[in-house]
Parts: sequence; structure tokens; C-alpha cells
Amino acid sequence: MMSDMPGQVLTYRYRLCPSKVQHAKLQAAVDHTRDLMNAALDERIGAYRKRGKSLTFYDQCKGLTELRSSDSFTTYSVVMQRWALKKIDHAFKAFFRRVKAGQTPGFPRFKGRDRIRAFGFADKAGWRVRGQHLIMKGIGAIRLSVHRALPGPPLTCVVRRYGKRWFACLTVRVPNAEAHNGPSVGLDMGVKHLATLSTGETIPNRRSGDRCRAAVRRAQRALARCKRGSKRRAKVKARLARLREREANARATHLHQVTADLTRHFSTIVLEDLKLSNMTRSAKGTVEEPGTNVRQKAGLNRSLTDTALGRFKELLTYKAERAGGKVITVDPKHTSQTCSACGAVDATSRRTRDQFTCRSCGHIGCADHNAAINIARRGGVLVPGGDNVGRWAERRLGKLV
Ligand SMILES: [Zn+2]
Repeated sequence: MMSDMPGQVLTYRYRLCPSKVQHAKLQAAVDHTRDLMNAALDERIGAYRKRGKSLTFYDQCKGLTELRSSDSFTTYSVVMQRWALKKIDHAFKAFFRRVKAGQTPGFPRFKGRDRIRAFGFADKAGWRVRGQHLIMKGIGAIRLSVHRALPGPPLTCVVRRYGKRWFACLTVRVPNAEAHNGPSVGLDMGVKHLATLSTGETIPNRRSGDRCRAAVRRAQRALARCKRGSKRRAKVKARLARLREREANARATHLHQVTADLTRHFSTIVLEDLKLSNMTRSAKGTVEEPGTNVRQKAGLNRSLTDTALGRFKELLTYKAERAGGKVITVDPKHTSQTCSACGAVDATSRRTRDQFTCRSCGHIGCADHNAAINIARRGGVLVPGGDNVGRWAERRLGKLV
């Protein structure tokens, strides 16, 4: 994201509806991209072995210009071909960065038929969107299902295949709103609920996960029964991929909807500054900072929660910025052991999973709500005394639960 220009670059994904012939043309463009990537990789390895020299992206672009003097290379846009070279460049840069950091990364690999499923354009040449069509050099005009209007002229385009379906990802620069006049809120991100608000409301986790996971498990077992290399195995494999994709989509949609609602309503949103990768792993915490939610976290699919929480924060941050609001993070120390009524800190106050009981003032309340209030206060947000409580839930959560 370029920071010197106002606004944000967002990606919009649209379904492509190619005919059978066009499907083959899209696949040919993917194959061309993969061949180019493999050739670029080969060239880099060769240059290094023979002369101990590393080729750069610009060296390879020059090489591409020479290749384009032959007819077979001018079918496609040079912008599309440079996109392939850039991918290899990224792979090498990431490789050397990790070597430098003392890690042992895998060397960039040659790409087999199923490992590359996309091609793209890093700038505005070689393709355009006209009405309901995406027009690309060497491929033609393919119907694009524009389910929502693009908010501006698209900047870059990546076409990707998912199983048998094709999608175009278009990036657009979207301006930020000037200011947001809504109320502020503190959020306690958790495991039982996705988040609890300082207004006392909770945002549920997505529910249909279990049903999806059962279907995935069934497909996995079916796959294990199939003979290697059989037609049936390929079929079951495609079904499994589709199920996984559907679950990932549903999860992403839920996070998008929840964060969009929050940022539409609230101007300042306060979160704990949690080191997310540590959060679920060290649920038990240390002696000085005992963790919260130990029980819930112990039996949890950790990687899943980790990514969901990280993604939640990411989405919330960019959407808040776009809406003219902001997300601020505060020190998470003792937020769950501090009494939101009297301010006393007591490690034993959270005796049960859901309830907070203050030993100093006798305040009893929902543990997550108590933490959310502390988080809001730490962010300098006024916690509403009553009139604001519950309104957000009344308005929106009915739809989500
Ligand atoms: Zn108290």
C-alpha cells in the first residue's frame, strides 16, 4: 500500500464466466505464466552457477524484451509477462531475506502444473474492464459478474482459478472518510465469543463451522479410500477442495460483516495489544501475568483461532480507517483481573469461566464484559452509563446470531 496517497487500495473479487473455449484460453495464459516463471527461475539458477551472479528483476525484463522479438511471445501483454517475473523476484527476495535472518528456507522451486493457478497484470496496460466484461490481450473479452460496482477505476488485475471456477481480483483506490461521529467502544477478543463489547454485547463466533467440518472429514475419509491416480480420487479431491474453500469463504464473510458493522457504528475501537501468535499458545501465562480463558484455550483449534483473531484485527483496522474512525491498542496487562467498578486488581477475582467477582467491592459481572470495560478505559474511551448500552446489538446482532 502506498502511503503518500490518500485512501486505501482494496481488492474486489468478481466471478468470471468464461465459455468452454475461453476457459481453455484462460488456462493457456496460466500455462504461459508458469512456463515463464520456470524459465526465469532456470535462468537465475544458471547465472548464479556459471558466473556467481544474481540476476535482478530488471535484468530479466530486459531478457523478456529480447524474447518478445519472436512472434510466439507477443500473444500476451508484456505487463502480464512481467507479473510472472515479479513473482519469481519476490520468491528470491523472500528466500535471501530468510537466509540472512539465519533461517533455512526452501529454495524457490520449479512449479508443476497444479501449483500455479493464476496470472496477472501489475499495472493498467494489457487489460481493461468494460461494462460486464474483462478484456485481456491474447485472451479476449470474458464476462465478468459484477455483483457490486467498482468504486473507482481498477489499478491491477489478477485472474485465478479455483477448481473449475475463475475469479478476477481487481484493486481499487478508495478514499477515506473525513471523520466519524459515532460512539467509542472497547473490545475484549475471546474464544467463547469472537468479542465482547464494553457496552455489554457479545459478537458470536460463526456457527455453521461444525457442519462444514463434518463434511470435510467425510470427504477426507472418502479420499483415503480411493486408489492413487484413479479418476474417483481426482473427483473426491476436487470436492474436498471445494468444501474447504466454502468454509474459508463463510469464515471470511462473517469477519467482514462483523468488522464492517462495528466500524460503521463506532468511531474509536479499543483492543488489547495481544501478541496473537502467543495468545492461544501460552494460555496459562506466567506467574506475573496469568493468562485468561485457560480452559477454553486448552481444547481449542489453536491455529484457527489465531488466524481468525489476527484477521479480525486487520479487517477492523483498515475498515475503521476507511470509515474515518480508528483502532487503538492498549497494554493487556491485568485487564481481566481488574474490577471495572472499583479498580482493584486481584488475580483470584475471575474464579469461574464466565463470572467476575470483585473481593474488594463485591461487584459481580460477566468476566468478558468487565475486561472490555477496562480495555475501553485504558484507551481513554468513556464507558456509557446506560443509554448507549445494548443499542448496537438490538440493531445488528439479531441478523448475525
Ligand atoms: Zn471492585
